[in-house]
Amino acid sequence: MRLTRQRQILLELIDQSGQHLDAENLFQMAKEKDPKLNRVTVYRTLKLLKAGGLVDELDLMHYGGDQHYYETRTKQEHAHVICLRCGRVEEFFGEPLQRLRRQIESHFGFEILLARTEVGGYCSHCRALRAREFEEARDRGISEPPPPVITQRTGKPKHAPRSR
Ligand SMILES: [Zn+2]
Ligand SMILES: [Zn+2]
Repeated sequence: MRLTRQRQILLELIDQSGQHLDAENLFQMAKEKDPKLNRVTVYRTLKLLKAGGLVDELDLMHYGGDQHYYETRTKQEHAHVICLRCGRVEEFFGEPLQRLRRQIESHFGFEILLARTEVGGYCSHCRALRAREFEEARDRGISEPPPPVITQRTGKPKHAPRSR
């Protein structure tokens, strides 16, 4: 795949961030490197990088709504562990993933080209907060605690994931 300047900029941003950035984050960061870049170009370039097999597009359990997140394909295969309350994303590397792959391949006689493992739940911090929420709700005589509130790492309130 030919790396034009836009592609190079985006690929570097995704690679160097070490995070899972969404298209809007990437657009804001790319604009600082090249003010001429516009949103349409950035979105189109991300599509091309994905089609060219250079980046993976993730939805991370839609914890932040409908946006997608990007990471380069250079990393070793890993699972994403997503907190559905605060949006924290951890990466799990390790042999169990390879074992799962081999088991699936032999069980179905399948050749796996691409595997994506996502695990959703509550991180240790949010588990503690939820335990407190349960207690407070019980003290007030409410049997059900409030539903999880999705907030981004910035602490800004986000809409809850849609039920599909
Ligand atoms: Zn959390
Ligand atoms: Zn990752």
